[in-house]
Amino acid sequence: MLTRFAPSPTGELHLGHAYSAVQAHQAARAAGGRFLIRIDDIDGSRSREEYVAAALADLEWLGLDCDGDAMRQSNRLGDYAAALADLDARGLVYPCFCTRADIAASLSAPHGPSGAIYPGTCRNLPARERMRRMAAEPHCWRLDMARAVAAAGDLFWEDAGQGARAADAAAHGDIVLARKDAPASYHLASTLDDAAMGVTHVIRGADLIASTDIHRLLQALLGLATPVYRHHALVCGADGKRLAKRDAGASLASLRAAGIDGTALAADLRAGRLPAGYSLRMP
Ligand code: GLU
Repeated sequence: MLTRFAPSPTGELHLGHAYSAVQAHQAARAAGGRFLIRIDDIDGSRSREEYVAAALADLEWLGLDCDGDAMRQSNRLGDYAAALADLDARGLVYPCFCTRADIAASLSAPHGPSGAIYPGTCRNLPARERMRRMAAEPHCWRLDMARAVAAAGDLFWEDAGQGARAADAAAHGDIVLARKDAPASYHLASTLDDAAMGVTHVIRGADLIASTDIHRLLQALLGLATPVYRHHALVCGADGKRLAKRDAGASLASLRAAGIDGTALAADLRAGRLPAGYSLRMP
C-alpha cells in the first residue's frame, strides 16, 4: 500500500489537514506500506515557499514520518504538458478564450458538481480562428467531455470498503485541464502524480468525491492505473462549517505555539478524537 498527503502551499495547514494526513499515514503504516508527501505547488500566483516549509514542519511536529523526499508538482510540468499534448493529438481538448465574466454572462450556464458548467462557446471554433486567437490571446485548455466520455466508455472506481461506484464525469462538463496562469489544473496534475508516485490508495476529504469521477476518466484516457479511493469526513469548527485556511485558530502553527504536543494530537486524530469545539462531518 502506498498513500500520500498532498497539501497546496497556499496557507497554513489546519486541523482538517492534520486529520487527513493522519488518515493516509495510518492506513499505510497499518498495512506495512509507504506514505509520501506531495507539494501541490503549480499555482504560481498563490503558492508560497514559506508555506512549503511550514507544512513540512507541521507534519514533522505531528510525528508523521514519510518514506522519501516530498515530490513537488512544480518539478513535473513537462509530464503535464506531454499528457495535454497527447489528449490534443486525439482531439480530446481544445483551447478556450473565455473569461470568467464571459462564462457567467452565458444564458446557458447550469451548475454541475464543481460549479458552472462551461457552455461550450470555444468548443467548435473554426481551425483558422482557433490558430489566430491562440497566437494572440491568453487561453486555457478544456477537456471535450462528450468526446472523452465516448472514448472511455462506462467507468467505475473503488470506494474503499463500499464497492464500485460509477464515475459520472459527464456531469462536470468541459473541465479545465491547463489554466491561463498554471500549466496544469488540479485534476490533471493530481491524476498524473498519483500514478507516477505509484499511489495505491488515495485517502482524502469527502469534499473531493466528485473530483474522483474526473480523475477516473483521466486515468482511462491516459492509460494510468486506478487507485482505490477513500473519502473521509471533514473537520468542522464550532459553527458546523468545514475549516478553511482563514480559520487561524485551528492552524497547526497556532496549536503548536500554544504548547500542544503534536504526536499526542496525531494519536487523538487517529482515534477519531478532536479537540473541544471541533467535529467530523460528511459534507
Ligand atoms: N492539493 C490538493 C488539496 O489540498 C490535494 C487534494 C487531493 O488529495 O487530491 O486540496
